[in-house]
Amino acid sequence: MTARAYLDHAASSPLRPAARAAIAQALDLAGNASSVHEEGRAARAAVESARRSLATAIGGAAGRMVFTSGATEANAAALAATGRVLASAVEHPSVLAQPGVETVPVDRSGRLDLAALATALESGNVACVALMLANNETGVLQPVAEAAALAHRAGARLHVDAVQAFGRLPFDVAALGADSVALSAHKLGGPKGAGALWLRDPDAFQPLLRGGGQEHRRRAGTENVAGIVGFAAAAGAIEPEEAGRLAALRRALETEARLSTGDAAVIAAAVPRLPHITALALPGMAAATQVMALDLAGVAVSAGAACSSGKVATSHVLAAMGVEPALAESTIRVSLGWSTTAGDIDRFLDAWGSLAGRRGRVAL
Ligand code: PMP
Repeated sequence: MTARAYLDHAASSPLRPAARAAIAQALDLAGNASSVHEEGRAARAAVESARRSLATAIGGAAGRMVFTSGATEANAAALAATGRVLASAVEHPSVLAQPGVETVPVDRSGRLDLAALATALESGNVACVALMLANNETGVLQPVAEAAALAHRAGARLHVDAVQAFGRLPFDVAALGADSVALSAHKLGGPKGAGALWLRDPDAFQPLLRGGGQEHRRRAGTENVAGIVGFAAAAGAIEPEEAGRLAALRRALETEARLSTGDAAVIAAAVPRLPHITALALPGMAAATQVMALDLAGVAVSAGAACSSGKVATSHVLAAMGVEPALAESTIRVSLGWSTTAGDIDRFLDAWGSLAGRRGRVAL
């Protein structure tokens, strides 16, 4: 066995062949999409066709979608200069780091505490509520439509980070009640460095990047034509049965992981989750140790705990869920995607099972 098992799609997914082909073609478009000549118009046509297909995929009007450099920028643009923002405690750091953000707790399964949100909204001066459609560490789905109703009743907007859910769980911006939605290309097999922000009311939007007329003055800077085209091609390549296939592979993975170790735990196993992410705890073995040992065995996963300035910091997501620190520190994230095969899952299970067997016998 030489090929590696890549099981870190929630961090970034390999480029889909359809996206690679579309990007290769788009790289040959010489024009700037803002130029009026034929070359410029060809680049513009490619961007607008991508905008239409991506907007259609989320049930939104194309004229309301702004292309960005990724979801970090989309989140920042949605939340910049809005005033007081209430965000779930399990949001992505690109949301939590925005000025004016206050967190609202989640329950033990990682879902936003709607009663706490309602109480926090009572002050009446909240500009925006930020709630992800699904969490990037656990896959747990959030009660977005309920949060939208509460936010709107209090006169606040709802921003939805749909990065992990897009392409895995069909959704519609109107049904969600979202006022803005952040998307990223590279989580679903598109290129890194391309994303989008959908806006219900683009006229009320204050741009983050100014000084150019691109994107209807909503985002200055020459459009990343190849990135945008690759984003739409990746989204368009998703087969309707892909989510079901991943859910079946994950079910097999979780069942076997628990059976083979006896004490492994799946975080938030009992609540609705995205089909491709599992947060797996192996009590008694640090996540960083598991990640390194699996890497040596040819399997790529990520740690549920992030390492910053030499110290292992517990995941803010697991901490917010009240997962006890020892369990949180032994939790890894295994995430599947379009290229995942049953063989990849077997390879993970073999390597992880043998690691589990070494606990207590070797100082790890
Ligand atoms: N939100 C979520 C939920 C994510 O998982 C990520 C990627 N880690 C981002 C936002 C940031 O996306 P990008 O990499 O496109 O900046």
